[in-house]
Amino acid sequence: MAINYKAELVGVLGYPVAENPTGVMQEAAFAALGLNWRYLTMEVKPENLADAIRGVRALGLRGINLTIPHKVAVMALLDDIAPDAKVIGAVNTVYRAGDRLIGTNTDGKGFLRGLRDEAEIDPKGRRVAVLGAGGAARAITFELAFAGASELVVINRSVERGQQLVEALRQDTSAAIEFVPWSSTYVVPQAIDVLVNATSIGLYPDVEALPDISLDQARSDLFVCDVIPNPPDTRLMQLARSRGLRTLNGLSMLVHQGTIGFELWTGQAAPEAVMKEALRKAFEMS
Ligand code: NDP
Repeated sequence: MAINYKAELVGVLGYPVAENPTGVMQEAAFAALGLNWRYLTMEVKPENLADAIRGVRALGLRGINLTIPHKVAVMALLDDIAPDAKVIGAVNTVYRAGDRLIGTNTDGKGFLRGLRDEAEIDPKGRRVAVLGAGGAARAITFELAFAGASELVVINRSVERGQQLVEALRQDTSAAIEFVPWSSTYVVPQAIDVLVNATSIGLYPDVEALPDISLDQARSDLFVCDVIPNPPDTRLMQLARSRGLRTLNGLSMLVHQGTIGFELWTGQAAPEAVMKEALRKAFEMS
């Protein structure tokens, strides 16, 4: 066999980025499949993003992830943007098509893959309530609407942000959309099939925080999801379980957005179990 010492490079650009765990799962996946690939966690200040993208091109990186604060700014620096990432208004994954850098958004797709594959729930025809209207909520609600969810309720503290998301959803999707300002306890109605916490409530180190909701009127087969990856077992997950409800934690979304990226970059099926275990261990140690 011909000798080939050349490593293929991918990575994440963010600022700050030191606590971003994505590299742990991607490196574990490369090792498991015996691929000579490296995932680099790179700190890039906003004013250096354009230079960094030139560097991505010059060094021939096979792809990148973008995290805070680059998900929107990167869009002007790429050769093309996938239609759904355009509508969502943010790019978290870039892959290469020849010399062209193509931006896409795998956050909502990762959530959906977890919902379908792990929870075995098809969003088609479902009524979903989503807490939050930030980047994660935006990606999740659009993908749910594209996947045929019949009704979406957006619950958000900031009325302006909530209404902006609701207007964008009404404009670009055919789901029935409702906005509920989150000014007091949100009582999850019986009609809701799936509840998603897409806020940052419960994220480490604020692990005791619980979204201000009541499950008293919720149906007994309500499915409860959280986007918080660290810790995966949030107070919300615990509350739902104590009511006998089924749950899906934020580790699922994180792993699946990573598996989609891995597949786009390498063209190979991602070793999902290896990636999830690597992340779980990393969070245990943090
Ligand atoms: P943003 O800052 O864009 O949005 C945060 C959202 O949380 C807003 O809707 C905000 O409401 C709401 N919020 C925050 N604190 C409170 C509070 N105390 N009470 C009520 N609402 C609150 O963040 P992102 O959307 O980018 O990220 C949200 C979470 O999703 C993060 O914890 C992140 O770790 C997680 N995430 C997980 C991923 C995964 O793969 N598992 C992927 C991407 C994100 P308001 O508008 O009123 O400020």
